[in-house]
Amino acid sequence: MYSSTPQPVCVLGSTGSIGVSTLDVLDRHPDRYSVFALTARERVEELAQQCRKYAPRYAVVLEEEKAFQLQRSLSGERLPTEVLWGVDALCKVASDDRVAVVMAAIVGAAGLKPTLAAVRAGKKVLLANKESLVMAGPLFMAALAESDAQLLPIDSEHNAIFQCLPYPCDTLDKAGVERILLTGSGGPFRTKPLSALGAVTPDEACAHPNWSMGRKISVDSATMMNKGLEFIEACYLFHASPVDIQVVVHPQSIVHSMVQYRDGSLLAQMGNPDMRTPIAHALAFPERIDSGVAALDLISQGRLDFEAPDESRFPCLRLAREAMEAGGSAPTVLNAANEVAVEAFLGGKLPFTGIARVIEKVMKSSEVVELTDLDAVEQADRIARERACDVLEELYGAHWGQPCPQSRSM
Ligand code: NAD
Ligand code: MG
Repeated sequence: MYSSTPQPVCVLGSTGSIGVSTLDVLDRHPDRYSVFALTARERVEELAQQCRKYAPRYAVVLEEEKAFQLQRSLSGERLPTEVLWGVDALCKVASDDRVAVVMAAIVGAAGLKPTLAAVRAGKKVLLANKESLVMAGPLFMAALAESDAQLLPIDSEHNAIFQCLPYPCDTLDKAGVERILLTGSGGPFRTKPLSALGAVTPDEACAHPNWSMGRKISVDSATMMNKGLEFIEACYLFHASPVDIQVVVHPQSIVHSMVQYRDGSLLAQMGNPDMRTPIAHALAFPERIDSGVAALDLISQGRLDFEAPDESRFPCLRLAREAMEAGGSAPTVLNAANEVAVEAFLGGKLPFTGIARVIEKVMKSSEVVELTDLDAVEQADRIARERACDVLEELYGAHWGQPCPQSRSM
């Protein structure tokens, strides 16, 4: 609820696309929120600029060398900011007693530990980092149930579903929900001839028609693995089984998702495609605050189209559904193989169509184990990354020239 003292916010991944949008919303409400901690992996000068503007108590980077760089950049300025580095420091600022709200906007598996730390510390956690839920869903949800934390989805689709459900919502069945319709734009290659997909470049894959996002999630949108990860995310967040969720392609990205009820009602949440809407919604929930996003003008929008996804064009959708159906470590393996494949594609070592091929091969050769604890998650993640590097080499002759990419902060 609104209080007269501003709530201290920790923004994990503050230099990223979601991080910057979060700071933009916070800027509009200095009476409600203050910035307690900012964190980033690279783009140290951008982080330094943010520190000058927000004077946070902490600024955290991943590596020691970057911490020195940041300290040098801020030296001589009379800021209250202490510079820290490493995964433990990320967890420390995310769970600090003084923090009320944590924006979890680190990209990839690296977001898991700090996000879990925030959950265990009972924070209001705004979850953008879908990969942490995909790779460790059962553990993540168990930690949430055991804590006083409040988890609010930032992913626009999940935020839309959350808005279309009653609150609180124990089970979909009790709420009278027939199914969830998860919308996705189909990305930049929805209508491109299939024969041309093998030759698309990383820049073409990152040119999303409606959203401006970080490069990893942009590639995920082009393969529709983003929708696959979101399918798994929705299963965990809303206690849904795979049959409860249908993916619908909606090229305009105006309807952010829908919930169909037993009585025939279909509730949709709509808005311009701008992440500041779900960020403002989750920050202030259950109140509503200004996000800086213009009102949707349906008349100038004119039309909204919907179609079924084409799984021959987007095999990642099928792979994600199969991973969720298999359960246990299968989503962890899917996520890890995808992160390696996307990095290889962005680095020019793999054709676009190779992404799904690598993931499928890794999944087929991985046994599904139960995720009993975080060690089991880390092990499944590590083995899948190693396997993905082997598959890359076997199919495409891609060498990393160094140990294959690990989820850097695990
Ligand atoms: P981004 O690449 O723009 O930003 C990522 C941030 O995380 C940066 O601040 C970066 O420095 C930091 N980071 C990267 N690797 C790290 C590591 N190993 N350890 C610590 N910090 C690290 O990404 P983004 O587009 O803002 O996406 C962030 C998360 O939000 C992703 O999980 C993405 O799937 C999700 N998301 C993004 C959007 C969007 O519109 N951008 C929408 C929905 C969900
Ligand atoms: Mg989304």
